[in-house]
Amino acid sequence: MIPEENEPDYRIGIGTDIHRLVENRKLMLCGIYIPFPLGLLGHSDGDVGIHAVIDALLGASGMGDIGTLFPDTDDKWKDIDSKELLLVVKEKLEEKRWQVINVDLIIHAEMPRLGPYKGQMKRIVAGLLGIDFTAMNVKAKTNEGLGDIGAGQAIAATATALLRKKKRRGL
Ligand code: MG
Repeated sequence: MIPEENEPDYRIGIGTDIHRLVENRKLMLCGIYIPFPLGLLGHSDGDVGIHAVIDALLGASGMGDIGTLFPDTDDKWKDIDSKELLLVVKEKLEEKRWQVINVDLIIHAEMPRLGPYKGQMKRIVAGLLGIDFTAMNVKAKTNEGLGDIGAGQAIAATATALLRKKKRRGL
């Protein structure tokens, strides 16, 4: 173990996720409902955007991954609003004195076009993390018609997060 005063101040993490698009599900991305005939299948609400952000934060803080923290065998998390999962993670970061510096998120979706929703997505996730609007970036990309995402069968997300350790007073 490195003595705490010698630990690096900054840590970076990466997260990815993919969910299948199916009928009879609401499409939730970054905490907002997007009108679309299909939604993402999942034990929770299937919000790939928030799930990728959670894994980036857990990765940066060395706290594991979303599947271990919120197992899909636990009914407690069934159909849960992923914003609630992000708040649990935010609390865990605070307990360990990790401050979120910034998050960058890419949503890979052929349809629907997400441009009109990016601002609202940024505001929601930044608000949940308690960071400035400008520290939360959301990009949306199509898959150029390639693969399962390109065929509109799934939506995926990739995120990075940078954290800074707040020093204890006196260190
Ligand atoms: Mg997921």
